[in-house]
Amino acid sequence: MSDAKRNPEIKYTQIFINNEFCDSVSGKVFPTINPCTGVKICEVQEGDKADVDKAVKSARVAVKRGSPWRRMDASKRGKLLSKFADLLERDKDYIASLETIDNGKPYADSLDDIHASADVMRYYAGWADKNSGKTIPSDGDLFTFTRHEPMGVCGQIIPWNYPVMMLAWKLGPALACGNTVVVKPAEQTPLSALYCAFLLKEAGFPPGVVNIVPGYGPTAGAAISEHMDVDKVAFTGSTEVGKLVMQAAGASNLKRVSLELGGKSPLIIFADSDIDAAVYWAHAGIMNNHGQNCCAGSRTFVEESIYNEFVEKSKQMAEFRMVGDPFEDATQQGPQVDEEQLNKILSYVEAGKAEGAKLECGGERHGSEGFFIKPTVFSNVTNEMKIAKEEIFGPVQTIIKFKDLDEAIEKANTTTYGLAAGVITKDIDKAMTFAQNVDAGSVWINCYDMLTPQTPFGGFKQSGQGRELGEYALKEYTEIKTVTMMVQEKNS
Ligand code: NAP
Ligand code: MG
Repeated sequence: MSDAKRNPEIKYTQIFINNEFCDSVSGKVFPTINPCTGVKICEVQEGDKADVDKAVKSARVAVKRGSPWRRMDASKRGKLLSKFADLLERDKDYIASLETIDNGKPYADSLDDIHASADVMRYYAGWADKNSGKTIPSDGDLFTFTRHEPMGVCGQIIPWNYPVMMLAWKLGPALACGNTVVVKPAEQTPLSALYCAFLLKEAGFPPGVVNIVPGYGPTAGAAISEHMDVDKVAFTGSTEVGKLVMQAAGASNLKRVSLELGGKSPLIIFADSDIDAAVYWAHAGIMNNHGQNCCAGSRTFVEESIYNEFVEKSKQMAEFRMVGDPFEDATQQGPQVDEEQLNKILSYVEAGKAEGAKLECGGERHGSEGFFIKPTVFSNVTNEMKIAKEEIFGPVQTIIKFKDLDEAIEKANTTTYGLAAGVITKDIDKAMTFAQNVDAGSVWINCYDMLTPQTPFGGFKQSGQGRELGEYALKEYTEIKTVTMMVQEKNS
């Protein structure tokens, strides 16, 4: 692949407030690292509370009564979202390069993420002028209708695993509903969001509608969730930080909260399935995006009669997975996002071995430079082991045996999480019984991780609150106002 792709010019490293790029109030910067090499790409302006305050002020002015954004036709908001989608696709090669050097994911995956992000923006572009209220037959001589109004200033804190896509999932519904936003990208991956800031301005969003403040979670992120003038906070990341965000919202101004958190999602393989297809779905379900996926199928449950064959085939597939330079076409897996994540994954491998799981393959670093890890498969895992309970967030497949449907449901639900689940079987009764009884926000039958802009996504239990994507996400960005009028009917 060309040098230009591997070494994109870094154009934007500053904080974006009121449609202008600016330095941090403190003058501080922080490095962003290329996880392939561990070497610094560049320094980025480090926002903290003072910068969040500036961004919130600008977002507040932009959402006030009479502002250009507030007065804009809803259909025009949709046109701006569509335009942004077009610009994402116009510059997809450049953005994919930024995404790959900052995050480490294969270039082809970065391109896919950008197309998927443009699709999400277009989907919400269509909703902009369709988020309508109702007329309600209230008792008495009353006429009632509801108005769907924007919540106001929305803080949006996003993770590093899908930097552009998480930005699109957040911006799409928030802007379609007429809100203004203050976004904090993850410290590991700020570059693509800052380029998107430039594109949002080019698309024609008025000043203050989108503000992007790169920085660290405990400073910039916390400043958003604690802020007294932020009306809503949307967060994607760990359950641990999700709880802090919710506490901060409660302790400050009771801002609305939506959370998309971690998971330990089960994928159930019945003996009647096509075993090669099942091995593929289970492999892809956990290995895609280097296992750095909130809805990763991180517990593979396999019916006992095919267990040994399934493990053997899964091991072969993992050993065959191409790890290496994310700019090479053949590469399926690049580095983990940073050294901390790499070490965390390696410590889970040790925990698995210590608790008696059998390491079938992988379990160690790949190469000596950067944060690469070999695709890893554990067999003889039980649902009680640490590697089956906690989110590893890496390419580590844990394969657990089960006897029958009842046991599969029971074990699938024995977790504090409830983000997603899957089932592979030719028996429609088993598939539907599982789908109806599993505690999960998304259930995939004979596939896995199939997300589209139209389908809602979010968690049961400690995997979150609220839904992203689809029509359901509009609710997370809409205040409902009930207007009731006395009707004096005149008799002629
Ligand atoms: P994280 O800390 O939850 O990060 C997510 C976002 O929250 C980042 O923008 C982060 O800022 C910010 N943040 C951190 N502390 C905050 C605070 N006190 N108040 C407000 N915002 C805060 O996740 P991580 O440390 O990157 O990864 C740790 C684990 O979280 C992973 O191993 C994985 O298990 C899970 N995770 C889940 C998802 C998901 O999609 N559900 C995504 C990423 C990680 P910084 O950039 O400074 O950290
Ligand atoms: Mg980085």
